[in-house]
Parts: sequence; C-alpha cells; structure tokens
Amino acid sequence: MSEKIKMKNPIVEMDGDEMTRVLWHLVKELLLSPHVELYTAYYDLGLSNREKTADRVTAEAAEATLRHGVAVKCATITPNAERVKEYGLSQMWKSPNGTIRSILDGTVFRAPILVRGIAPYIPTWTKPITIARHAYGDVYRNVELPAGAGRRAELVLTGGGEPEERVPIHEFGGGGVVQGVHNTDESIVSFARACFSYALDTKQDLWFASKDTISKTYDRRFKDIFESVFDAEYKEAFAGAEIAYFYTLIDDMVARVVRSRGGYVWACKNYDGDVMSDMVAAAYGSLAMMTSALVSPKGAFEYEAAHGTVQRHYYKYQNGETTSTNPVATIFAWSGALRKRGEKDGSRELADFADRLERATLDTIESGVMTGDLYALSSLPNKRLADTEEFLRAVADRLAG
Ligand code: NAP
Ligand code: MG
Repeated sequence: MSEKIKMKNPIVEMDGDEMTRVLWHLVKELLLSPHVELYTAYYDLGLSNREKTADRVTAEAAEATLRHGVAVKCATITPNAERVKEYGLSQMWKSPNGTIRSILDGTVFRAPILVRGIAPYIPTWTKPITIARHAYGDVYRNVELPAGAGRRAELVLTGGGEPEERVPIHEFGGGGVVQGVHNTDESIVSFARACFSYALDTKQDLWFASKDTISKTYDRRFKDIFESVFDAEYKEAFAGAEIAYFYTLIDDMVARVVRSRGGYVWACKNYDGDVMSDMVAAAYGSLAMMTSALVSPKGAFEYEAAHGTVQRHYYKYQNGETTSTNPVATIFAWSGALRKRGEKDGSRELADFADRLERATLDTIESGVMTGDLYALSSLPNKRLADTEEFLRAVADRLAG
C-alpha cells in the first residue's frame, strides 16, 4: 500500500452521540485511517462529556474552530426533559449547534447529495439546490401582543441622540394582534458575505429574494445590502468565475426554483429558509443525503450531516440488532472538511482524496449496494440492501481498489 497522506494542519473533530457516534468511528477506521494520517484536534461533544465539562467542551471546540479554520462535527443530542433523565444531567444543556453558531456567527448552507437511481420528486432538479438560511432576527426575534378592542398600536423609535419617531400601526376597532420584528445591518452584511463567498467557493450562481415591493424599507434593506456588498467586494471575482448574482421577488423565485434544473445557491431570509429548506430536502428524497456547512465571516468552516443522531437505530444497535443506517452525510461531512483543509494548506493530495472518497461512496450506491432508507427509494433493478457496516466495507473496497 502506498504511503498515507499527511496533514499540515489539524481539523477540529467534534464527536457526538448515539448512532452517528457509531458511524463516526467506523468511517474513521474503515475509510479515512487507511489512507490519511489523520491529524485532528479532538473534542468529545457526546452528551456525557458535555455534562462532565459543564458544556465547556462545546465552546472550546468552537474557539478551536476559529483558530484552525476547519471543523467536522458529528450529530449531537439537544437535551430535552427525557434526555435529562436518560443521561442524569445536572441541567438541560443548550443545543451545541446553537452554541457553536453563536461563537462562529455563521450562515448554514444545506445541500443534497444526488445519486443515480434516486429521483427527486421534481424531476427537473438534476443538480443540487443549496439553501443558505439567514440565522438571525425577523420573526425569530419578534415581540408580539394581543390587542384588545379600542387599542392603538404605534411603532416608536427613541434614543441615539435623534428625535423620537412614531408611526401609527393600527387602530383596533375589534380585537387583533400586533408584532414587532427587527434585523441589523451587521448581521445582514455578514449573511451576504457568507453567501457570496460560498457561491464563489463552489462555483455556483447565487439567487436571493425578498418582498421589497411590499416591505419597502425592511426587505429593501436586505436587497440594498446584498447589492452593495456584491458591487464592492465580489463583482469581479464572480465575473472571473463565470457565475452570476441574481435577485428577484420571493414569489417569482419560488416559481423559478420549481422550474429550474438546480445547480445554484438559494439565499433565504430566516423564515423563507426555515420553510424552504424542509421543502427542498423532502423533494430530493432523503434527510440522510443532506449535508450542512456552517460558514463563518471570520473565515472558519464547519461541516456536518443535516440529520440527527438517529436515536431509533441506536436503540436497536444497543440491543445487538443489525442496523442499516445511512452514513453518507457523515462521510461527506468528513470529505468536505478534508477538502477544505487541503485547499487551505495547498495540499492537492488531501483535496483529491476527498473527491475520491465521495466518488467511491456514490459509485457504491450506483452499483446497487445501499442502506435501507435508499433501498426504499431507489429505482435500480439490481439494488441490494446492506447493513451499516456492509455498506461501509463496500465503500472501503472501492476506495482501495
Ligand atoms: P434524526 O436523528 O434525524 O432521525 C429521524 C429519522 O430519520 C430516523 O428515525 C430515521 O428514520 C431517519 N434517518 C435520519 N438519519 C438517517 C440515516 N443516516 N440513515 C437512515 N435513516 C435516517 O432525528 P430525531 O430522531 O428527531 O433526533 C434524534 C436526536 O438527534 C435528538 O436528540 C436531536 O436532538 C438530535 N439532532 C441533532 C442534530 C444535529 O446535531 N445537527 C440535528 C437534528 C437532531 P427511521 O427511524 O424511520 O429509519
Ligand atoms: Mg424548520
């Protein structure tokens, strides 16, 4: 066997929970370690260790990501009341992804992994549609009140050394409701930069939409910020990469997306992204074939699978039953991180390995060997159901061969 690929700088490795933790170690053992001398800064974000460290490990992993620039994360349990009991937690620790996102201040990009034999519900979608969701503000940071009959609602701005401004919202004859939302220029600018950078990085057009014909100040602000960031910082690079920035109204956008072939990044305001990412994921067929990348304006990248810890399969696994859990999104989280590490370090070898790993994974499925979730969807005539480890070994053979 030829020599293993060496890494110049580490990847921050965040281990996780349940079935994905099992997959994590199998992927490393069977697919990565035989070919790469793995160099990682390891953080155990498994729930027991979060409890043991009073969740400091999560913040430390995020800080390390800012230092090293590239991270790969396993799915983790976000505790609820049941988990507090199951793991004997001293408190209901916050969502690790929320903690990491608030430290990296990032935008999340979700992209489907397409494979022959699994047709999307929209047959023209032959290339992936990547959704970039703005993760701050709007209705997710709202304040709202029920308004009784006879109440008057106003929008009031004070402070900042400026005269007070008051705008009437509505005089309630009968009862009703009222809501206040906000966003900040800083957050919109960093969202815009993350979107333009990711589009450049992946050489895809960037599409963005809002409702600026109706929301002439609020949504208009998003449109204007995107345009000025593009003109000032990205226009030339986009022209050089032969990609485009395209803005339209959100209703027109939805119609265009449905008729499109895919192959672009769709930047969405917070609510649009919440709704549309589930629509897009469902239309491509399987949550187990969705990757997720967090891009920080501070220059750091974190890769993970879009699905959770696959709890139901884990309980079967613990009972000694065979499972057929799909490791593809976990493999692609690793390949994404290795490729980015290779690019940042000028290591062609490492980036090429990432490409070969992804190709071997897809070729395995296209040859007919697949886990249960895909077996149920695939139209391949020679398809064969593999358990978790059989599938990984088939990928390993192909990768070595
Ligand atoms: P989940 O782990 O995504 O699983 C939901 C269902 O989707 C599974 O029961 C399974 O369906 C199917 N599925 C998901 N991934 C699969 C895979 N790789 N292979 C085959 N089937 C797959 O969501 P959940 O059960 O709602 O959440 C479990 C835990 O994950 C929770 O504690 C939650 O906090 C955590 N979570 C973490 C993240 C993250 O870290 N990013 C994200 C979401 C949820 P069948 O059972 O029908 O086979
Ligand atoms: Mg949602």
